[in-house]
Amino acid sequence: MNTSREAPGRPGGRAPALDHDPDRELLAGLSLDDKVRLLTGADNWSTCALPGIGLRAMVVSDGPAGVRGVTMDERNPAASLPCSSALGATWDPGLVQTLAAALGAEARSKGIDVMLAPTVNVMRTPLGGRGFESFGEDPVLIARIAVAFVRGLHQAGVGAAVKHYVGNDSETGRWTYDARVAEHVLRELYLVPFEACVREADADLVMTGYNRVNGVTMTEHGLLLDRVLKDEWGFGGVALSDWHAARSTVETARAGLDLAMPGPGGPWGGKLAAAVRAGQVGEDAVDAKVRRILRLARRVGALNGSSPDDRAPADGAPPGQGPVLADPALLRRCAAAAFTLLRNEPAAPGGRPVLPLDPGRLRHLAVIGPNAVSPVTQGGGSATVSPARVSAPAAALTEALGGLDPGTQVTVRPGCVTWTIVPEPPRYTLRDPVTGEPGVRLEFRAEDGTLAAAEHRGATMFTWWDGLPGGVGAGGRGTVTLRACYLPVQDGPHVIGGGGAGRLAVAVNGTEVACGHPDLPADPVEVMVRPGEVRATVQLTAGREAEIAVCLRPDDWPQGPVAIRLGVAPEPDDDALLAAAVEAARGADAAVVVVGSGPATESEGFDRPGLALPGRQDELVRRVAAVNERTIVVVNAGMPVLLPWADQVAAVGYAWLAGQETGTALADVLLGRAEPGGRLPVTIPAAEADCPVLHAAPDGGRLDYREGLLIGYRGYDRAGTRPRFAFGHGLGYTTWAYESATAEAAPARALEAGALEVTVRVRNTGPRTGREVVQAYVEPPAAEPGRPLRTLAAFTPVIAAPGEQARARLTVPARAFARYDETAGRWVRPPGEFTVRIGRSSADLPLRLRVAAS
Ligand code: BGC
Repeated sequence: MNTSREAPGRPGGRAPALDHDPDRELLAGLSLDDKVRLLTGADNWSTCALPGIGLRAMVVSDGPAGVRGVTMDERNPAASLPCSSALGATWDPGLVQTLAAALGAEARSKGIDVMLAPTVNVMRTPLGGRGFESFGEDPVLIARIAVAFVRGLHQAGVGAAVKHYVGNDSETGRWTYDARVAEHVLRELYLVPFEACVREADADLVMTGYNRVNGVTMTEHGLLLDRVLKDEWGFGGVALSDWHAARSTVETARAGLDLAMPGPGGPWGGKLAAAVRAGQVGEDAVDAKVRRILRLARRVGALNGSSPDDRAPADGAPPGQGPVLADPALLRRCAAAAFTLLRNEPAAPGGRPVLPLDPGRLRHLAVIGPNAVSPVTQGGGSATVSPARVSAPAAALTEALGGLDPGTQVTVRPGCVTWTIVPEPPRYTLRDPVTGEPGVRLEFRAEDGTLAAAEHRGATMFTWWDGLPGGVGAGGRGTVTLRACYLPVQDGPHVIGGGGAGRLAVAVNGTEVACGHPDLPADPVEVMVRPGEVRATVQLTAGREAEIAVCLRPDDWPQGPVAIRLGVAPEPDDDALLAAAVEAARGADAAVVVVGSGPATESEGFDRPGLALPGRQDELVRRVAAVNERTIVVVNAGMPVLLPWADQVAAVGYAWLAGQETGTALADVLLGRAEPGGRLPVTIPAAEADCPVLHAAPDGGRLDYREGLLIGYRGYDRAGTRPRFAFGHGLGYTTWAYESATAEAAPARALEAGALEVTVRVRNTGPRTGREVVQAYVEPPAAEPGRPLRTLAAFTPVIAAPGEQARARLTVPARAFARYDETAGRWVRPPGEFTVRIGRSSADLPLRLRVAAS
């Protein structure tokens, strides 16, 4: 595995340790005002340049599921990756590193120095709105995938900002909540992925969260920033704030925060210089921060005359050739590798499992479900990118089957709707009323109504963080209008929604049909995802265009975006949609039902209210299954949902939020061209009440992590509750026998040296070449209250042909046998005999080894 930090031709490479102090001369030549300038962003996405010392601005971009760049703009598309929970589901660090290197190459080709990624928070509760952006519920799985992700970015010469340090595991009240977490719980769960990224991958930056931990705001957390992150783990990089998370001058400066983002405002700048002059903050503290920023600049090639244009090219991206997006074939491979097959039964007793579908025998396939037609391919918030194309399951299956046999009939039926805000209309139904081109027109007007700017655009939802074109819009001064000619494809009532943060008016053919000022969402990021909306229902005629205008007078929103959005959809009739889907399924050889999250269900900025599938999707699955015994349900969600019908259908698989290649990858897996490679990175509950943590709302500002260590499978195991599908579970298209496991002869000595090697032999007992993820869990000598019965310690994928035996080598680190002793302030290993259990999920562990660790 290549873990080199140097991109081809990249100057510098590994940065010297801080105590070499290569920047003494540079620092000596800087005034205090210059130094503090470097510690706040120049704007939303850049650091400050100091040309005098050869330092150019460094540009950062969100992540983690693509390189968004400095604007959210369909004219600058980005490759859209599978979401992080999907990457967790691959259990394949090697593949994730390859993907992250491609992400890094795209970033470099776009002039981006630092990706604000990966997110390594833990899926504490399945309600967490941003859980899709996390690699899983287990810190060891998260750490292995995160380290690979960071190494991949570094391999491309791009900095990685590991986020959000720490305890930012849910969204409700995230700006201020106080996560109350015992120290051993922090050490054994929530800090683990950060520690691994720092110690093993030498991460360049760590982003602090908005929240507090045990009473202290994270940007001011001297204990966690200075003592743990920097002193104990030896982090030599930049601790940067989440956007607008630095809210004090002296406390943040003293605590070890190095970079306040965004800028140019914020609590530092002149205020920090004044605090230094007043003796409240030592100038040495400022110097230390500047050194860290210079070190980062060296690493990404931003110091000493290099500029975005003359930086070393990323792999395959010669200078001056513009953005090179990550290869769609790689994205497709990753999405298939993440697809987690949970159940695969024969349609009739004695038959072969329903998947993979045999295209030779398939004369008629019904493809059903709201997400078959309009998949949710990414989560909401800062992880969202504008992809150049998106492959939907229905279209991809139709194309794949048509390519194999044009006589195969594919019937597509949405079955029901799940939207709560009016969906954006397909682009082919819209035309710019002025130019006539497909798309819409945006007009920006000054307060007196004069046109300040106009744009032809290809999207229907827009956000601006840095002011509007023509300088209009801030503080309620001026308006932005979205205009489009909409071509209905059916007669009847249509719902039209105008969305945005501010005062809204919607007109159809020149007549105002709705107006109002919706409530402002609680979190500024929510504005990007589901801004308030005003709606009207109007009669439209198929083939007769209607000109729609949404006019927004933006609010003065100091910290967030201006957003405007157009939604148009035929008024839904779920009874008719359900009936049509059932009819299609009745006559088909098999029914693929793609259900899942609705638009704006999973997002940064807000948590989910519950785990049930939105709308009438459960009813849809049950009714389809009742008429077709070969019903295959595909779940398109980034986090657990309830699957109450799971044992009434032939097959169930999780596709996650698989990015732009959602459809193509799904077709590959269902038709057997690719192995469903995924294993669950999170437990799927049988019932909501079974979840060990089912609360994400702070109480009086406090979010008590009172479950301690017992999150996810640890909680289920301890309570003796059977989940619907266990952590680690996932089927391929072959079967496996676990034959033997052996450990090194002197385990105690091996552990003293750092890790215990375990060798496991598994055999492919099925009909196809396949991939198996061999998992090892460590059980302590005795079950103790409040402690998990077992925890994941190591895993490795193996591949074998039919009948072949494969040998898996697992390196179980000494830490897996230890626990954090708060009183002693260190890791200790309890005396006695441990058990290492090996198998294919947290609930299916056929092999065991006794390990005398002392
Ligand atoms: C998010 C970060 C993100 C930043 C910049 C914040 O709201 O929490 O994850 O990187 O915005 O978009």
